[in-house]
Amino acid sequence: MAASPAATTAHDTAAHRAAMDAPADLERCPLWPTYRAPSVKFVRGSGSELWDVHGKRYLDMLSGLAVTSLGHAHPAVTEAVAAQAATLVHVSNLFGSEPGPEVARTLDRLLGGGGQVFFCNSGAEANEAAIKLARRFGGRGRHRVLSAFGSFHGRTLATLHATGQPAKHEVFQPLPEGFAHVAWHDIDDLDTHLDDTVAAVLLEVVQGEGGVNPVDAGYLQAVRRLCDERGALLVIDEVQTGLGRTGAWFAHQHADVRPDIVSMAKALGNGVPIGACWARTEVAAVLQPGEHGTTYGGQPLAAAAAAAVLDVLEREDAPGRARRAGERLRQALEALSAVAQVRGLGLLLAAELVEGTDAPTVAARALERGLVVNAVTPTALRFAPSLLIDDAEIDEAVAILAAVLDEVAAATTDPSAASTGGGAP
Ligand SMILES: *Cc1c(COP(=O)(O)O)cnc(C)c1O
Repeated sequence: MAASPAATTAHDTAAHRAAMDAPADLERCPLWPTYRAPSVKFVRGSGSELWDVHGKRYLDMLSGLAVTSLGHAHPAVTEAVAAQAATLVHVSNLFGSEPGPEVARTLDRLLGGGGQVFFCNSGAEANEAAIKLARRFGGRGRHRVLSAFGSFHGRTLATLHATGQPAKHEVFQPLPEGFAHVAWHDIDDLDTHLDDTVAAVLLEVVQGEGGVNPVDAGYLQAVRRLCDERGALLVIDEVQTGLGRTGAWFAHQHADVRPDIVSMAKALGNGVPIGACWARTEVAAVLQPGEHGTTYGGQPLAAAAAAAVLDVLEREDAPGRARRAGERLRQALEALSAVAQVRGLGLLLAAELVEGTDAPTVAARALERGLVVNAVTPTALRFAPSLLIDDAEIDEAVAILAAVLDEVAAATTDPSAASTGGGAP
């Protein structure tokens, strides 16, 4: 079954428009106020394109936060999910099912072999699994986890504590014990803190939510050596960077480092919720049946999505495409006068804007002009488009951004020059 392109305007009804626009709808909002009120409601996607309730088209340079790496409504994934939904969705982990084990075998191969996989439903859960396994492996007294300031590892209580952003911790104190943070990209600080109470060092190769900050290969190699010397496990959080996005199957492979545990999620189901935690077989072997689990983990529906995703990623050489498209995007962004610096790897990039340019304002104006990007910090825009994005789409995105940056610069020097108005704070 293929996606139906005929759905184009079916959602663009007066009722939908009224629901989006009426202030009363906000008052009666049925959702927790955990997210800012959205300015756009999307109803359909295809590849790197999205359409909102009014039928307006957008170019998606964010992929639902690095999730839809194959673009929206990829036919192979749509077909696999539809076929599996019509066959068997769920049986629980009391029984075996397909294609979970096949997905695990593929992931192990892409990670270089020698490991086993636990399936869950999100990035935070993949990191929870990693933390529990590291504690189980380390044993009592060697249970602490060191992570980096500026990191992001999830929103559960344990992964929130692992997240190296103390401002996010404050209102939820007390958090689970056994977490501490070290200075980002500072091997001496890690050296100081890595004692025999530490079960694991948990790191991102590129801090995604923290602002798209990549570490050097030399740093990661030194971390690996320190972990080996002190008997701690090295856990790499590849939830955002994994599965081709950075130009390698996994970002730590750029540094030729072998982690003990790797967590992943975002791109694995191309939007169907699934996470996974891979561990070296000797490490995973400490777990006994019943010590960890989750009801949905590895269920046929999510696993079928992942199997299709991995198949397409491999057939399309996703890492190679991310490298080539990433280079084109980087060069085009660097050519913009309002861009001070571009950082990141492959198709996970951030453009640091010149001083005085407010990234949330630029992102809001870009959205008005039909370009989806994200202000990852107050001064930087994040780009994480589909790995299958083509050159024309990259060029179109950068052209829209250039026009927005010109408009914002003109409004900054002469406030009366602001044309489109609305949206931005
Ligand atoms: C998004 C993200 C997570 C959390 O994933 P969820 O699916 O939102 O729980 C964890 N680590 C990193 C690096 C992420 O980017």
